[in-house]
Parts: sequence; C-alpha cells; structure tokens
Amino acid sequence: MKLALATLLFAAPAAAFAPSSNFGVANTALSMSTEAATEKTFAKLPASVKAGVVTGPALKDLLSDAKAKGYAIPGVNIVGTNSINSCMEAAAKYGGPIMVTFSKGGGQFIAGKSLSNEADSASIAGTIAGAKHVHEVAKLYGVPVVLHTDHCQKAWLPWIDGLLAASEEHFEATGEPLFSSHMLDLSEESLEENIGICKEYMEKFAKVNILLEFELGVTGGEEDGVDNTDVDSSRLYTQPEEVHYAYEELSKVENAMFTCAASFGNVHGVYAPGNVDLQPVILHNSQKYIKEKIGSDEDKPMFFVFHGGSGSSVDDIRYAIEAGVIKMNIDTDTQWAFWDGVREYEAKYHDFLQGQIGNPEGDDKPNKKYYDPRMMLRAGEEAMRDRLVKAAEDLKCVDVLN
Ligand SMILES: [Zn+2]
Repeated sequence: MKLALATLLFAAPAAAFAPSSNFGVANTALSMSTEAATEKTFAKLPASVKAGVVTGPALKDLLSDAKAKGYAIPGVNIVGTNSINSCMEAAAKYGGPIMVTFSKGGGQFIAGKSLSNEADSASIAGTIAGAKHVHEVAKLYGVPVVLHTDHCQKAWLPWIDGLLAASEEHFEATGEPLFSSHMLDLSEESLEENIGICKEYMEKFAKVNILLEFELGVTGGEEDGVDNTDVDSSRLYTQPEEVHYAYEELSKVENAMFTCAASFGNVHGVYAPGNVDLQPVILHNSQKYIKEKIGSDEDKPMFFVFHGGSGSSVDDIRYAIEAGVIKMNIDTDTQWAFWDGVREYEAKYHDFLQGQIGNPEGDDKPNKKYYDPRMMLRAGEEAMRDRLVKAAEDLKCVDVLN
C-alpha cells in the first residue's frame, strides 16, 4: 500500500487523485469508528490529515490537496517556542496548515548559544527538543503542522544524520517519523552529485516516511550563515532539464516523496525594488517539460517549493502557485514582524520600563508587570502571528480546513 501511494501521488497522472480521495473516504469510516473522539479531522481535507504533526501518507495527501486546489503552505523559520507558537496560533487564526521549519542555527539556538556545537551536537539536540515541543502542543492548536528542516549543505549532513536517527527511533515506537521532512541543499555540488546524495538520503527517508526537499540552482541572498550574494546570476535560474533529471532519479526510490526548490531568481532576504528579477515561468516550463518527457496526464507532476518568499509581489507568488508551488518559505518578514512587535511594545510603555520602581503614575509605583519578559515576547508573538495571517492570504491558504 505504501508503494502504491508513493507512486500515485508523486510520480503519476492526474487521475491518481481520484483513488487518493477514495482512500481518504475509506479512512473516514475508520476514524469515525475508532478515532473520532480524540482525532480532529477537517471537512475540506482528506481524512488522513489530522490536527497535530502530519507525516507520511497524510503529508502526501495534504500537499496533493494544496497542489490540486491552488494554495501554498507558509514555511516559517523559527528560533524557539515563541516563534513556534506564533506559527501555530496564526494557522489556527487563518484556518490552514503550517510548516514549522528549523534551521541548523535555529536548532542550535534552542539548545543554547553557550553550548559547544562540536559534531553538530547542539544543533541536533535543539532541533529535536523543538520538534518534541511541537509534537506535545500541536494538537491543542487544532491545525495540521508539518515539521521541517531548512537548508543543509554537504558539510552539515551530520546534523541531518542525527535527526534521522531520532526519527528512526520515533518510527520504531509510533510508526511515524519525528520530522515530516528535511531539506538537503547540495546545489553547490554538480547536478549528478547533488541528486546522487539526495537519492542516498531518499532511500533512508523513504523507510521511515520522511519527505525530501531538494534544491536545484541557487537561492540568492544571505540567510542564517549561507551567503550567496555574489553567486553568478545564471545559477539563480534552474533549467527544466535539471528538474526532469532529478524527478526521474528520485522517482526510482521506492516510497519516494520529494519536493523541489527550483531557483527562479528568488533570493533570501528583502532588497530594494529592482534588485530581484523573479521568473516563476521557469516552474511552469519545468512542469510542461516533465509532463511531456514522462508522458503523464498530470499537468503538474512536480511539487515545487518557493524559497525567499519575503518581499515578493502577490502576483509573482500566485503565478508560482499556479505552477505547482505548495509551500513558500518566509523568514525575513517574520523576523522583522517579531522585532517590530517588541519595538512597539517598548515604545508604548517606555516610561514604565526605565527602572524596577517609578513610572509616570508615581515615583513609588512598581513596574514588574511591564518588564516581565513574557510581555515583550508576547508582543513579538502577536506581531509575527499577524504577519503570518497576511502571508496565508497571499498564499490562498485561508479557510482551507473547514
Ligand atoms: Zn531557503
């Protein structure tokens, strides 16, 4: 059954969506009888997709739903429980799924900046700790949550090895991986080496139902220790032949689930207008090329993801979604939003934040309720949440659950 599902959702024709929803209907009956009391399902989504962390066949169903209906899920870089909770609070507010995304640096930050990161020990421990937080609380928010990790270049693979070991352990105990998906970014390597290493990891991921996100070409700009600001501009635009090659190679792996971060001029960070030349038509051309090459009835055989979404125009975003983009990464804009919430809080209560005692209401008045760190952190959370609701509107990810 696993094999059949993989083939039908990730390498097969449009007609495959029909059997997929049949599978979903069968599942409804099952969940009515055995799980209805505890598991929340959604009227508009396949029955396999429930509140909480979504992995394996349920993740495939969710991404297929996004591609078929034309919405994309916000993928958000987080650095701790505040930003994680903002993501889930936002998803509950806009009524859609969310992807909580750990960078290697974000995971290290969760473990604690003072720790040595020898052999990526802090990055591994912190990413796992963050994932466990999500597993504990996600259901309470009543939304589907995809647990994902961001860019991992060749030298960082030990980080993914550590996370994979945790997922294998989790799979053994529960039948599901700890993480829904991992990104491998080997775009610095040749195409053959990039896809070769991706295939090796796809074999391991497939055994525990983890989805692979891979990168072709280079996302420009700078983010979390990866600086591509000076990269040759031709590498910022992926060729349809490369996408097809990767599709064919990865499809050879049994139970393979993958998404492609193709470069179409997208950059990390927000730059002045005129510095970014987005060409989402590359994604459309790639889908057409693959469809012809593999003789598929499916117009959009590939699942694309969009890196460097911050600062992009809504028109470009929507055109990319029409080309089969099912997730857009947002980091820079939510970083700004969190800070802006804190900044506004400080500006509003400035005179209550200058000492432990004494404010405009009296020299002996205590200020504890203003400088309690939860006050400023909550202000950041709320601003980040609101920015993500706006992102979900751009991505047409609003009210897609019920
Ligand atoms: Zn990225």
